[in-house]
Amino acid sequence: MTRGRCLCGEVTVQVNAPMTEMSACHCELCTRWSGAVHMAIDLETKDVTFEGPIKTHRSSRLATRAWCDTCGSALYLQDAVDTDRIEVFPGLFDNAGGAKLVRVVYADCHPDGFSLAGDISRVSKKEYEAAYPHLSEGTNE
Ligand SMILES: [Zn+2]
Ligand SMILES: [Zn+2]
Repeated sequence: MTRGRCLCGEVTVQVNAPMTEMSACHCELCTRWSGAVHMAIDLETKDVTFEGPIKTHRSSRLATRAWCDTCGSALYLQDAVDTDRIEVFPGLFDNAGGAKLVRVVYADCHPDGFSLAGDISRVSKKEYEAAYPHLSEGTNE
């Protein structure tokens, strides 16, 4: 079991599963919301318990994003289609929960000023949207 918390400590999280891998996303929604680059640990919703003052925003048909209502720390992204899946933000845990970056999606959409280095899997916007056809059906509305 791993415990984490937001910046102010009012929101706590408990994860009852190993956290080994995380992924990054350079899509426009994740970029605007995260402030630069979104990184998250993909978990089963049943293994994750959040407590505290949480606010949410339904950013698209596909996802709801959550933050601490006191300090604004990003907490999670809940898959709105497959509600058994949740992406939890690594910064809530010491040492990113021990998770390692293994994949970046929308890899070709990084800004000119930076990109993620290292031996990681890189999935382009085109490849990602081909694998998930529902994404192109008005994701941003
Ligand atoms: Zn907080
Ligand atoms: Zn994204």
